[in-house]
Amino acid sequence: MARDKKLIIGNWKMNLGVHEASLYVHKLADQVKSHRDVEVVLAPTILALQTLSVQVNYRQFKLAAQNFYWRDHGAFTGEVSATQLRGIVQYGLVGHSERRHVFHETDKDTRAKVQAALRNGIKPILCIGETASERTMGETSDALYDQLIGGLANVTSEELEDVIIAYEPVWAIGTGNNAVPNDVIAAARAIRHHLKHLYGSRAASSVTILYGGSVTEHSAADYLALSEIDGLLIGGASLDASAFAGIVEKAYQSVKKK
Ligand code: PEP
Repeated sequence: MARDKKLIIGNWKMNLGVHEASLYVHKLADQVKSHRDVEVVLAPTILALQTLSVQVNYRQFKLAAQNFYWRDHGAFTGEVSATQLRGIVQYGLVGHSERRHVFHETDKDTRAKVQAALRNGIKPILCIGETASERTMGETSDALYDQLIGGLANVTSEELEDVIIAYEPVWAIGTGNNAVPNDVIAAARAIRHHLKHLYGSRAASSVTILYGGSVTEHSAADYLALSEIDGLLIGGASLDASAFAGIVEKAYQSVKKK
């Protein structure tokens, strides 16, 4: 994605059923206009993806999977693969802190999922972020480096163009305790610095970086004004269609100002 665009992603987590998801999309479609410089992505329950894929106008919204298994087919009861999601979603969340901390997914799992997404034409959104104790110990940059190496091993610089990095400090997710813009600037610079070391300066400066962690309709504009990041990953505040539409509107305003 070109860096003069903004990417706004709503992660509904395990909220809203199929019917509610469909009503939400009707409501949101009335409230947001299509804009070529703002990409709006919805990550509903996996159950709603099929319905929404028929309902949404892909020029207005794209869809993301919140999770998927890294194998393409086989005897993996209860799992859904990136191959099965192909054509339905354009993006897939990988390494979200809830996957890492509640479901104990490792960097090895994360890396396998990044690979699965890429080989199935789905853009992985690799979520990385430090814990509260890493932050207190001054280890934020090291934690980000470890998670980048862990998730991106085997990704070529060409493939990196399809990878989105979401900086999501663990202590800020769902807590109401958002990182201040200066923290986000420092983290985004650290991420580009690490990527420069791994992939060179062109790849590092063109990669899309998002911030996520307790962003609301009121704080969104402060982050969207930062040149270091390219959009937002929104959890709680995306559950209300009007609040989410308000955030998308802030993204339009931020691109218009440029
Ligand atoms: C998230 O789940 O990725 C997230 C950022 O959640 P919240 O906005 O609720 O902190």
